Amino acid sequence: MNNKSKGIGGINLIACLLLLAAMYWFMGQTGGQKNDFSYYDFEAALKAGEVSEVVIEPNKVVPTGTLVIKLENEEAEKLYVSDVKEIEELLQSYKVDYELEDVPQESVFVTAILPTLLMIGAAFILFTMMGKQGGGMNAKAMNFGKSRAKMSTETDNKVTFENVAGLHEEKEDLEEIVDFLREPGKYTRVGARIPKGVLLEGPPGTGKTLLAKAVAGEAKVPFFSISGSDFVEMFVGVGASRVRDLFQEAKENAPCIIFIDEIDAVARRRGTGMGGGHDEREQTLNQLLVEMDGFGVNEGIIVMAATNRVDILDPAILRPGRFDRKVMVGRPDVKGRYEILQVHAKGKPLGDDVDLQQIAQTTAGFTGADLENLLNESAIYAAKEGRAYLKQEDIRHAFVKIGIGSEKKSRVISDKEKKITAYHEAGHAILFHVLPDVGPVYSVSIIPTGVGAAGYTMPLPEKDEMFNTKGKMLQDIVVSLGGRVAEEMIFDDITTGASQDIKQATAYAKAMVTKFGMSDQVGLINYDNDSDEVFVGRDFGKTSRGYGEQVATMIDMEVKRIIDECYAKAKSILKENEKILHSCAELLLEKEKIPREEFEALF
Ligand code: ADP
Ligand code: MG
Ligand code: ZN
Repeated sequence: MNNKSKGIGGINLIACLLLLAAMYWFMGQTGGQKNDFSYYDFEAALKAGEVSEVVIEPNKVVPTGTLVIKLENEEAEKLYVSDVKEIEELLQSYKVDYELEDVPQESVFVTAILPTLLMIGAAFILFTMMGKQGGGMNAKAMNFGKSRAKMSTETDNKVTFENVAGLHEEKEDLEEIVDFLREPGKYTRVGARIPKGVLLEGPPGTGKTLLAKAVAGEAKVPFFSISGSDFVEMFVGVGASRVRDLFQEAKENAPCIIFIDEIDAVARRRGTGMGGGHDEREQTLNQLLVEMDGFGVNEGIIVMAATNRVDILDPAILRPGRFDRKVMVGRPDVKGRYEILQVHAKGKPLGDDVDLQQIAQTTAGFTGADLENLLNESAIYAAKEGRAYLKQEDIRHAFVKIGIGSEKKSRVISDKEKKITAYHEAGHAILFHVLPDVGPVYSVSIIPTGVGAAGYTMPLPEKDEMFNTKGKMLQDIVVSLGGRVAEEMIFDDITTGASQDIKQATAYAKAMVTKFGMSDQVGLINYDNDSDEVFVGRDFGKTSRGYGEQVATMIDMEVKRIIDECYAKAKSILKENEKILHSCAELLLEKEKIPREEFEALF
């Protein structure tokens, strides 16, 4: 942005001043006193017996306060303290006279009414301004519709792929974009179509923003970044005009990258909002789509976007010619975590007892941001202790603090849980591999997903199928049960971790019986009463099943028979492959995530 908003008109100036004044009142009138009498001076004076009297003036915000310290032969000094109680104790221990004043009660006018009035005044002026915008006078000054994008140019964006630890596959995926931005000619010459949009998807804190910046840094092109929520303003039309403006600026600076962080704020599925949807957001999204369709394929603009909620995005945004490239940015595995720790340990002197490898092993489920936070907290702890380097002890402290503080976000996983998960996932994976109609396994992981699952086994469907066969459906059920079966085989106890699997297996078996006519007992009758399209009004009043007690019993028995048979099958296959079960689980415990080739090498 070429700083077009330099000229602040007189009226704006007044508005700004009023706002500042209001803020000052709100924040309390504490700051502003300038002196260089420090707490250490105070302590020294106490020790030397130079303090004759102290007046303690508590602030409204207890327990902070101000000390007025009368020193012998000198004028009084002021000192701002964070805990009045502590000071009292200190003074008592030195037997110094002190006087404690009451907590001040300010008039309601000063604390509440005055700032509110100031705010209203400022808001009023701003609105008047807006009214005049069309009239031309000072129209440029406010820049309401201007994009709020921050542009960083080649020189001030220093982030490169080197700053992004781990994420090797992701970086490889983005390498070609970097190459294109560096040398567009190379691609246009042979008529290659480079993706216009790249969507980075993954949980918060995994490095999506960092990765986007690094692409710009690697390619040495300008980087326009804006957050989805910046588009969504209270004035209808502002978002759309911001989008237009952003693309205009980008075109002037091509080749470049536009980065839209948290795109879900604008690109939510249209027309689903309660009470008629959100006009403003729809307009903004439409404008975004228009702009993305509008620029030529190889104009040198790449739009990158990040989200952690791909499921709520409007499908229109994922169409070819828009965000047609998706890069999944997952939580790091042990190796990735080790590399991230190394990056963030730079500039933090580590004591010789610090073992980053061991930290990496105990932080399953942590994202890059969590790890950065962990080291930062450790450094703060070390600083508090007055040490110039970090000890393993500091990291342990920080670990406890972070692990407990954000329990939901990155739960610290015990070794036992990890082991159970490893066997559970290995159970699924082996069945996927052995059974002919399902699989193959694309990757197996015991990195917690953050949405409640302790791990996952991802199959890679080899062909698109029009319909399921009975055999395949049965095998799917066998695979679903494999996790639980493996747990049972290895541990005396079973866990609640398989509830989702059991639910899925049951749903499959039930559909086979009531919907697909795959049970000879029940026959070719559809007893499935969850109609595909659910009408709230219609479904409410409906209580009857539409069939009798006898049929219900028969369905239940058939479902149970299918599940039991599949369970037995899962058990026998895993028994046959028990050795592999062990070796797979061990490999998972070591690496946390194993790709297809390494998994298949076990057989
Ligand atoms: P996201 O955009 O996915 O929410 P960010 O890119 O904002 O996450 O990451 C937040 C911070 O976490 C980064 O500034 C960086 O310090 C740290 N971080 C995350 N992932 C990595 C990584 N792979 N390598 C190094 N640092 C990382
Ligand atoms: Mg981000
Ligand atoms: Zn499972």
